[in-house]
Amino acid sequence: MLLADVALPVPIAHPFTYTVPPHLAAQAVAGARVICPFRARRLIGVVLAVRTGESPSPVRALAGAVDDEPTVPRDLLAFLTDLADYYLAPIGEVVRLALPPVERDIARELAQPDLFERPQGLRSRKVQWVVASDRGEEAGTLSGQAAAVLAHVRAVGGEPVARLEERWRSARGAIRKLAEMGLVIVEQRVAAAEPAFQQSPEPDVVHEPTPAQSAAVAAIAGSLQDRKAKTWLLHGVTGSGKTEVYFRAIAAARALGGGSIVLVPEIALTPQLVARFRARFGDDVAVLHSGLTARERHSMWRRLREGKVDVAIGARSALFAPVRALSLVVVDEEHDPSFKQEEGVRYHARDMAILRAHRAGGVCILGSATPSLESENLTRTGRAKKLRLPDRAGTHPLPQVELIDLRRNGPGPTADRRVSMPLFRAIEETLGARGQVILFLNRRGFAPSVRCTACGQMATCKDCSVALTFHKRDGQVRCHYCDYRAPLVTRCSKCGADALALEGLGTEKLEETLAAAFPAARVARLDRDVASGRQIEATLARVRSRQVDILVGTQMVTKGHDLPNVTLVGVVNADAALSIPDYRAGERTFQLLVQVAGRAGRGETPGRVLIQTWDPDHPAIALAARHDVDAFLERELRDRRELDYPPLTRAALVRVDATDEDQARRGCLVLAQVARSCEAAREGTVTVQGPAPAPIARVRGRYRFRIMLRARERLPLRAVLIRVDDARSSLPRNVRASVDVDPVQLL
Ligand code: ADP
Ligand code: ZN
Repeated sequence: MLLADVALPVPIAHPFTYTVPPHLAAQAVAGARVICPFRARRLIGVVLAVRTGESPSPVRALAGAVDDEPTVPRDLLAFLTDLADYYLAPIGEVVRLALPPVERDIARELAQPDLFERPQGLRSRKVQWVVASDRGEEAGTLSGQAAAVLAHVRAVGGEPVARLEERWRSARGAIRKLAEMGLVIVEQRVAAAEPAFQQSPEPDVVHEPTPAQSAAVAAIAGSLQDRKAKTWLLHGVTGSGKTEVYFRAIAAARALGGGSIVLVPEIALTPQLVARFRARFGDDVAVLHSGLTARERHSMWRRLREGKVDVAIGARSALFAPVRALSLVVVDEEHDPSFKQEEGVRYHARDMAILRAHRAGGVCILGSATPSLESENLTRTGRAKKLRLPDRAGTHPLPQVELIDLRRNGPGPTADRRVSMPLFRAIEETLGARGQVILFLNRRGFAPSVRCTACGQMATCKDCSVALTFHKRDGQVRCHYCDYRAPLVTRCSKCGADALALEGLGTEKLEETLAAAFPAARVARLDRDVASGRQIEATLARVRSRQVDILVGTQMVTKGHDLPNVTLVGVVNADAALSIPDYRAGERTFQLLVQVAGRAGRGETPGRVLIQTWDPDHPAIALAARHDVDAFLERELRDRRELDYPPLTRAALVRVDATDEDQARRGCLVLAQVARSCEAAREGTVTVQGPAPAPIARVRGRYRFRIMLRARERLPLRAVLIRVDDARSSLPRNVRASVDVDPVQLL
């Protein structure tokens, strides 16, 4: 009997077995999509393997096949299996990551190529989508087209209204009825073409490589030629020309017939990088970003799958692009925490980039000016090799960095202590010399907290143990965790006094302060409140074309922008990130400071960086001011070793939450006991800490507890995690628990 193991899009760890009827045997092969009866529904799954054998218990037969050729290529399928295994993640959900939205659920008729040919020169437009809600209908309340439309929408998850209308003439009436009954939701989706495709592409400037660039390219090209799995850590200072190295590595891979994937932290923040790729590689690069419609995404995906395009660039999900003959994976700004996915399947795209490249027998390049401790440790244990670009590519040196001790410097003319006299003067001078200024402040909103000056009570979110931030533009206080919003009231909720005061400084207020202090200057702001997607690009374009004099923003301004006219960078509060209860706080602070400093002086005029701090002797701050990355890595690795933290140990976080505090604590305790009862824990090979309340003890009305597990080796830790993961099913239904392998977010 022919059996197929199928990954289904359900949160169940194991694959499901079906028998393969003879007429489907040719199509139901590994990587192909098949239609599977599942409970009362039919689901589309991906075949993981086909084997002959006796079925262990009565199993159902596959109901159909979708593909003539496997959708998921073999090497990608093997990689997905490894990823699921590494993170103890349900295989069906992992496989889903590799299927573009249309491919995920849609049946064969929609996969006809002509439907997906993408018109040239798409502009941004809104498309109405119908999406199935979670609600079920009462039996017998629906008939005719409404029932048919609902069944279809449920089968595919969601569909554009226009497409439903193609099938059912009176679809609109049916949709309206279904929406009124709450069975479907109609939403507007932006159908934007990739921004970089709309701009006239930048002219391609091919530089004569510097000796360091040449050496790096030669080493990488050599490893591509060897066709042996290899990882390079490209440690190049800000402005050293890492992009040119990536370009040449991609060209070398291509000359050998290999495809490439380039991962960037956030595609919206890197329009310039994307434009440079377009300039160099033209239509041979697929830009994958969240602004694409399902159809556009599908068309890119197809072109990659068919080998018509052999370079894919995108944020972490581009890791799953079906690039043919993959031989190179580049991770730009590899230290960036956004490579860690924190929802659903919790994977780290940097770590998995190495795995994917090696699975394909290819090369991985991790590029950064501030390598992560993880990557640095790989070089020290011989699992990666370091390549250095020690100098900026042009003639311009790294900027001068001055620390401003806030304890010793009073406020400038704005009367706000956080715009110190030296910072104020430096802004004034820079503007006078027609230079541009970037100011980095890691708090959005106007005032980060609101406190009653009579009783001391701080206004907090009703559902989260988080202070509410005041946003002036809309006169609201907001929770940055659950997005709870309320009008600002002046009366204290606890003592009733009319004495609420705004505390702290956010980007909104800084923008206002600077606009008042420098009335002739054009001030712009870049943070999540004012900019998303294409607005980010628009703001950066305005800075580049010198329509902005001062740019104020959160870490969005620290990313790899190449803005030649920025000659002053100010860090308003360097210590902000240091107080977070996370062993990576020092590393994060160091990286942010070096990265933002690297935005200064990239053009003809030398740059200057002012870092305001209450703690100028803190190593993360003092070493960042000297651009001394090696000393920082050395010191930080030593501290991590002493404290048994990653990357010198392996860690995992077990998170438990529930609306009832006691239930959450008890659930966490059960899992901790399971962990402690394992042999590896009793022997002390694996240490178990907790249960402990999370630093942010409540979010969205749920109390959060967790257990931290650590071990020197991966396998014993894994053995314990498998037991803990199994034990999750013994918890009450309203207690949620998850396992996070190699956690990044600890709050
Ligand atoms: P990084 O990503 O390392 O910070 P970029 O790749 O953005 O640096 O390069 C910084 C600047 O240096 C860019 O403007 C780029 O055009 C320029 N550049 C790169 N390589 C060279 C070179 N070999 N000679 C001169 N300029 C170069
Ligand atoms: Zn909240």
